[in-house]
Amino acid sequence: MRVSDARYSRDRLRFDLALRLIQHEARTSTIRVWTGLSDDRIRKLYRSYLVEGDGSNLARHRGKSPQQTAFFTRTPAMREESSLLASVCYLLGVMPAGKVADAQRTLPGVQRGAALCEAFENYRDLVQSPRISFEHAVFLVTALARSDEIHATLCRDCNALIVVDRYCLPSRRCSACEAGSQGRLFM
Ligand SMILES: [Zn+2]
Repeated sequence: MRVSDARYSRDRLRFDLALRLIQHEARTSTIRVWTGLSDDRIRKLYRSYLVEGDGSNLARHRGKSPQQTAFFTRTPAMREESSLLASVCYLLGVMPAGKVADAQRTLPGVQRGAALCEAFENYRDLVQSPRISFEHAVFLVTALARSDEIHATLCRDCNALIVVDRYCLPSRRCSACEAGSQGRLFM
């Protein structure tokens, strides 16, 4: 492969990821960090996407990105959704092998970004009315990699991957096993 070809395909991957992130309503800052593209190029992509694609109902998110890990664990239903998304992220290689202290800086990249999109799309397909936005998915992956407030562990009864809060007394059981032990059907 010639240098120019290699550069072309690298740029191509960045643009493909940026378009995918735009479709998932990611913030400009998120797109910049994960693709390495400049704000100016992202704005141009937005514009061409709105003109050519069906971007009419696309939401632009401004303000702060999600920062509360309690979002993922506050109700049994949210714990279940977060655990499902986290499982897909682990399966598709989005998660790093070990704990990462500086996850916000070290995780982003084109390859992991594409895997995260894949995981997010799978999650949206699996859940009837998904409550986790793409920005929250990025936050979930970062928080799990950091492992200081929430972390992933296995249900002690069935070994399913679950997301638990470090500060709360963890039940260490997935919602299905929890519901089973209470003698009622979950959902
Ligand atoms: Zn279980």
